[in-house]
Amino acid sequence: MVPKSRIDEILEGYDIEDLTIATLCSHSSLQIFHGARKMGFKTLGLTISHSTKYYDAFPLAKPDEIIKYQDFDDMEARVGELLDRNTILIPHGSFVEYMGARRFSDYPVPSYGNRAVLKWESDRDKQRQWITSAGVPMPKLITDAREIEEPVMVKYHGAKGGSGYFIARDYMDFKMAVDQTLPYTIQEYCLGTRYYMHFFYDPLKTDGYLCEQGGSLELLSIDRRDESNIDEMYKLGSIEESRRHGLYPSFVVTGNTPVVIRESLLPKAFDMAEKVVNKSYELFGGMWGPFCLETVVNDKLQFKVFEISTRIVAGSNPFISGSPYADLIYPGLSTGGRIALELKNALKDDTFKELMT
Ligand code: ATP
Repeated sequence: MVPKSRIDEILEGYDIEDLTIATLCSHSSLQIFHGARKMGFKTLGLTISHSTKYYDAFPLAKPDEIIKYQDFDDMEARVGELLDRNTILIPHGSFVEYMGARRFSDYPVPSYGNRAVLKWESDRDKQRQWITSAGVPMPKLITDAREIEEPVMVKYHGAKGGSGYFIARDYMDFKMAVDQTLPYTIQEYCLGTRYYMHFFYDPLKTDGYLCEQGGSLELLSIDRRDESNIDEMYKLGSIEESRRHGLYPSFVVTGNTPVVIRESLLPKAFDMAEKVVNKSYELFGGMWGPFCLETVVNDKLQFKVFEISTRIVAGSNPFISGSPYADLIYPGLSTGGRIALELKNALKDDTFKELMT
């Protein structure tokens, strides 16, 4: 990871009246650029092979400038172009996944949020250690595939939008489907309703839902993912029947729909989010900004967190003009807008450097 002292040095050389907010052209970039523009920042899209023509269709979210790279080596070699523009990077899931967590950590351009979190997020064992030691329930872990007795989810490491994940009911199922060349985790399959809750932790805010370790926690929105083909599989009858025709369930994210949860679940949701924030400070110096708890709620109204995403998630995209939750804090503000507001406030209060790594 780039040493914090190096990032501070770079920021000292920046003209902070003339910052540029940059991100990779994908995932939640429309929302990030839209929010940054609203707060008066210059915006810069970074792209490797992704087509950027679609921005022309959304003028309010089109970045002021786009840099096209041949590949991530090219992006590394041309780092000076970003520093010349006083650039702040906003990480999102695709940015970190495509570039690689290690490479993103080492990229010497100031980034919003704590890059130390990547080590804890990208390794599923460390992620589990963090969440469970915070006192937040997760799906049970199965360490020996021969012990599979109930339905389980088999997941490969890294954020791949559910790609390649599969359900196994027993060891045979597992053996037939697993790719042993990739690191994987086996979890209990949690039956219930899925809620992806988009929180924002502001370490400098002194009002609202205050956390034990200081700062304030906000719930900005909640979504549920559309996943292909599992969401439509039931139309073909039983999974066993589908298997006979060579059709297997998959969990590839294709879209997101807005959700609100019953109000009585909110205290539990905040309690879990606060616990993971508090623990992050104990373990690796903190997690601030947007993050998402990916959960299943069973019919006893118990949550299990099957994953944490420690940055803006694409599930916040339906809420570009606010949400039933954000509207009770910042009417009309998206998560992208909230990030830009945070940067704007920090510039005013001279706390900007504290938010960058
Ligand atoms: P991302 O990083 O984009 O969130 P990912 O590749 O890490 O995605 P997960 O979010 O962990 O994948 O899981 C993908 C999908 O699989 C979930 O959205 C959910 O539908 C399902 N899923 C994951 N874990 C479980 C579980 N333990 N029980 C039931 N369903 C699960």
